[in-house]
Amino acid sequence: MDTESATVSGHDVTTITCVCGNTVARDGLIPANSDGVPIHAGPDVPAGLASWPDDGELFTLCPSCGRVYSDSVVEETGKAPVAFRVNVESGRIAEAIQLHWTS
Ligand SMILES: [Zn+2]
Repeated sequence: MDTESATVSGHDVTTITCVCGNTVARDGLIPANSDGVPIHAGPDVPAGLASWPDDGELFTLCPSCGRVYSDSVVEETGKAPVAFRVNVESGRIAEAIQLHWTS
């Protein structure tokens, strides 16, 4: 099976057009950790969100479909293969997405 890839330009994760059609300008894209949990930049991390990863490995989560892209892959290759998928309908990550938009 071929790996799905998002459209991206200029090695820039903020230009990703997700496989599902979502973009930063549409439903938004969320920085996440290697588990796909949205991360909070700053010292006071709300419960349910992840802190900024110590290793700096960032991922970009599409909150519409749950596809997750590796920022380092995008920056190094200019391509955006889907790294993995998470459940954005229910569960921890779905709740964290709500927190991300409201905190
Ligand atoms: Zn998507």
